Amino acid sequence: MSVQKPVLIREDGRRIDGRRPDEMRPVKIAVGVLKNANGSALVEYGETRVLAAVYGPREALPKYMSMPMRATLRVRYHMAPFSTDERKSPAPTRREIELSKVIREALEAVVFSSLFPRTGIDVFIEVLQADGGTRTAGLTAASIALADAGIPLKDIVIGVAIGKVNGVLVLDINGLEDEYGEADMPVGIAPNLGEIVLFQLNGVLTREEVKVGLDMAFKAAENIYKIAKEALYNKYIKVLEEVKFE
Ligand code: ADP
Repeated sequence: MSVQKPVLIREDGRRIDGRRPDEMRPVKIAVGVLKNANGSALVEYGETRVLAAVYGPREALPKYMSMPMRATLRVRYHMAPFSTDERKSPAPTRREIELSKVIREALEAVVFSSLFPRTGIDVFIEVLQADGGTRTAGLTAASIALADAGIPLKDIVIGVAIGKVNGVLVLDINGLEDEYGEADMPVGIAPNLGEIVLFQLNGVLTREEVKVGLDMAFKAAENIYKIAKEALYNKYIKVLEEVKFE
């Protein structure tokens, strides 16, 4: 029995949610949303909503995790049981363990970890609502939460996924596009360093499509970076103003 694929690109060239192929979903970023964490950020890419919290640098526990020359970064990416349409088991899946690892490696590329020897930095990424691109929104949230925690970074990392649906390259795929599309290429970009710190590809793309897709991703990352910077700036300017008027 053949399952019919839904039409993902409409006759007018727009996508099922009305976006143009190179259009990002609305991005919202809030910084310092948790009182008890050292740093936190809430990031929304459309209906995808991800929270990140950072603790540290603090004493690395257990002790064997401690490294004499640098901080140990630990990352946990987790999807809340209520984040998907069918309740997800709260126990970590293989997918979540793998994503935690690749996100950690992406963040290690920008954290000045040698400034904090023998300490641990814990990053918790909690997917509150999933509609495609949770690893990329999670990566963005994590790097902003690290900045909010005051941890020196070489750059903020912005995650965004390129996809191919009905033969068309698209920016920031949503859940349906991810499920029924031909390819999914999540990337993590350090826009000021001009570096790619995470790169994955599921499906098939031509060399030219990868190139065009990356250009799209870099452009989007620069725009998201501006939103992130403004969110961080607003939080700290607000703090300064409160201090001034006390
Ligand atoms: P990403 O969220 O980074 O795009 P995937 O490509 O693995 O990661 O997943 C795509 C989408 O599929 C998710 O954003 C989510 O909407 C959905 N999804 C992933 N895992 C599950 C799950 N265990 N149960 C239900 N939906 C899921």
